[in-house]
Amino acid sequence: MQPKLSFDRSSGWLRVKESKKKKIFDFSSEYLNFLNACKTERESVDFIKKEAEKKGFRNINGSRKLKSGDKVFYESNSKNIFLAVVGQPKINVVVSHLDSPRLDLKPLPLIEESGIAFLKTHYYGGIKKYQWLNIPLEMRGVVMSKGKKINVSIGEKDDLYFTITDLLPHLSQKQMEKKASEFVEGEDLNMIFGNMPSDSKKKVKESMLSLLNKKYGMIEEDFVSAELELVPAFKAKDLGLDRSMMGGYAHDDRSCSYALLRAVLDSSKPKPTSIALFVDKEEIGSEGNTSAGSMHFVNFLEMLKEKCSWKERINEILISGESISADVTSAFDPFKKDVFDVNNSNELSKGVSIEKYNGSGGKYYGNDASAEFFYRIRSLANKNKVIWQTGEIGKVDIGGGGTVAVFLAKLGINVIDAGIPVLGMHSPFEVISKLDLYETYRLYRVFLNEQ
Ligand code: MN
Ligand code: MN
Repeated sequence: MQPKLSFDRSSGWLRVKESKKKKIFDFSSEYLNFLNACKTERESVDFIKKEAEKKGFRNINGSRKLKSGDKVFYESNSKNIFLAVVGQPKINVVVSHLDSPRLDLKPLPLIEESGIAFLKTHYYGGIKKYQWLNIPLEMRGVVMSKGKKINVSIGEKDDLYFTITDLLPHLSQKQMEKKASEFVEGEDLNMIFGNMPSDSKKKVKESMLSLLNKKYGMIEEDFVSAELELVPAFKAKDLGLDRSMMGGYAHDDRSCSYALLRAVLDSSKPKPTSIALFVDKEEIGSEGNTSAGSMHFVNFLEMLKEKCSWKERINEILISGESISADVTSAFDPFKKDVFDVNNSNELSKGVSIEKYNGSGGKYYGNDASAEFFYRIRSLANKNKVIWQTGEIGKVDIGGGGTVAVFLAKLGINVIDAGIPVLGMHSPFEVISKLDLYETYRLYRVFLNEQ
C-alpha cells in the first residue's frame, strides 16, 4: 500500500465512529462533574485520593513491602498527590498540575470603604486582570483557627455570589484610553463582601467579622494564615450547539489532570511501574515544596525503591525512565492570526497535542525532547490509533511558555509535552474540545501501561 505522504490534519470528529463519539461524550460529562466539584488544588487532591482509594490504592507510608500490581499513593500538604501502580523497576511517569490562576486573599484582606466591606486580593498566576471584573465569584479554601482546619466553600451551592465591579462606561473615558495591562490595577481587585451594618454603632467591617465568627469561629488574625481563593462561580458546561466542546474554569490543567487520573486508575498490572504525579504551584514557576521543582518526586521514588526491594540506584531508575509532561497548550485562534504560525499550531478537535519543545524566543527556558524519544511516543500513539497533532504555542518572536517538563528533565529522565489545546487560556472560562480530552486520556493510558 502506498504510504500516506502528508500529515493528517483533518478534524478528529471525521476519524471516529458513532460508538466512539458516545464514549467521548460520556467521558466528558464525568470530567465536568470533576471540574465543578474541584475548584482548588486541595479539593482536587481530595477528589483524586478518594477515587484512588475506591480503586484499591493505599497510602505508601502504611505499606511495608510492595510487589507487582500493588497500588499506592503519596500525599503532601494536602496540595499534591502521587499515584503509582507497581511493575518493573522501569518507570513511566506522567505529571500534571492542579493549581490554576485565581485571586488569593491578602493577609489582612478585610477593609471598609463608604459603607461597603471589601476583601482585598492578590492574584495568583498569569491573568488578564480585566477578565475578572463583573463575573460571579465564589470563595474556597482553608482557614486555621483555634487549632482546627476549617474548609470554606461559599458560592453557587449557597445561591450566593461575590464579585469585583468595574467602572460604568459613562465615566470611563479616561480608563478606556489606558493600556489593557493598566486598565485595572492589582490593588483595585477588591471583592465586594457585605453592605449591612448590624446596628447603628457598628461599622460594616465589624458586622462582617461577627458573621465570620458565627459561621466559622474565626477572628481577623486567622485571615493571615488562611488560604482563601476566589474562583469563578459559574459552572463548567457543554459548549456549542453540537456540544462538541466544553467551557469552564481551570481546564488548565485540570483537563490533563483528569485524563491522567482516569488513565492511572485504569492501570492494572502494567509492565513498567506507572506513576502519576499531580503537582501544585506550576502557575507561579514551580517554586515551593508542593511543586514539580521540589524533591518530593525523588523522595517518593526512594520509598518505592526500598519497599519494592529494587536493586537499581535512583539515578539508574531515572535515566532509564520515560515521562510525559501533561499540560495544556494554546489552540489556534482564527481571529488572532498575527500571533500564530498557522502551519505549526494546535487546533481544536484534532487530538492530543504532542510538542517536541517549548520555551520562548530561541527556545529559551524550555524542554526539547530527543528525536528518538519523540519517535517512540508518536509510534506508540500511531500503533494505538490515538488521534494526535503537534504545534508551537505561537509565532517564534511573539512569546512562549514552559511547563513542568524542565523539572523532570533536570532529573535526567526523558520527557515530552503532551496535552490539550485550549482557547482563552487562563481566562475565567476556558474552552477545550471533548475529542481532544478523550484522546489525551487514551495517550496517557497506553503510555502508562504498554512499554
Ligand atoms: Mn498549565
Ligand atoms: Mn497555565
